[in-house]
Amino acid sequence: MLVVMNPGVTDNEINEVEKQLKGFGFSVHGPKGNNRRIFRISGESDVDTTIIEKTIPYVEKIVFPHYPFELASRDYQEEKTVFKVGDVEIGAQKTIIMAGPCAVEGRESYLRTAKAVKEAGAHILRGGAYKPRSSPYAFQGLEEEGLKIMAEAREMTGLPIITEVLDQYSVEIVAEYADILQVGTRNMQNFRLLKELGQLRKPVLLKRGMSATIEEWLMAAEYLLSEGNNKVILCERGIRTFETYTRNTLDISAVPVAKELSHLPVFVDPSHGTGLWRCVPPMSMAAIAAGADGLLIEVHPSPKEALCDGPQSLMPDKFAQLVNSLKKVAETVGRTL
Ligand code: PEP
Ligand code: MN
Repeated sequence: MLVVMNPGVTDNEINEVEKQLKGFGFSVHGPKGNNRRIFRISGESDVDTTIIEKTIPYVEKIVFPHYPFELASRDYQEEKTVFKVGDVEIGAQKTIIMAGPCAVEGRESYLRTAKAVKEAGAHILRGGAYKPRSSPYAFQGLEEEGLKIMAEAREMTGLPIITEVLDQYSVEIVAEYADILQVGTRNMQNFRLLKELGQLRKPVLLKRGMSATIEEWLMAAEYLLSEGNNKVILCERGIRTFETYTRNTLDISAVPVAKELSHLPVFVDPSHGTGLWRCVPPMSMAAIAAGADGLLIEVHPSPKEALCDGPQSLMPDKFAQLVNSLKKVAETVGRTL
């Protein structure tokens, strides 16, 4: 159940409402602050909820949401969530491109790739320092050294950086460097990690679990929101189906569905979504046409030598061509790039 306060309530008034709700026996969840004038409440309180509207000042109405992901839903917030990461606005008219290699493999190659993707028009740099690999014998990432290299690339390019956080033990170290923390597909339902990231006031990109329904994905986002973090990006990255030619089946239809259900920005990762670099340009166009707020694309200077995900990585020149061709698609759907 959502308690919506009058427009223009002050922080003090919000705190007062929270105190009164707690006094009635409700527990109170959700982002706070004077631009957040809605609480999600639950609990065993025996107070007739209509009393809340009548007795607590500053309360405009009570809303009973249509979905279990209450804070992530459009019932909670009709307008789209928009927030800034550095100078980059996420969720607004402009389509945002995050690009870089799957993993940070070394200083020189990362800085070179970072420079190339910036020149091609990327807005945010990606790279994995802690890699979730299927095989324990595969390259696991450079860990803190990788984070330091990414921080150097941020200095050099002026672009914010996004990197994956694998577990709750490394939240602190990753948060020290990253501008956006990525939760990978394998961790979408790592609820301890989500709670920890919910308490952190840093943007989180939440990949869809490879076998998760859209509702499970939005419930995972609800974990972040219910802990107070409203800077959440949803990212469709392909799901497991019976198809084996592609690595995953990129569920483009999840984009309009998630955007209709939720106010959160929705990104698409066509690299993991298909596993094939040739599929990345057409799927990027499809994603933008479907309403995606941004893309997450793997770029590697020499994919054949990549330590991770070479077959799905674009060479920098192909990436530059793609960014150019995406401008037209973005314009067609009323966006910029
Ligand atoms: C990644 O983006 O590097 C990654 C591992 O993605 P996913 O969690 O979608 O497999
Ligand atoms: Mn990868």
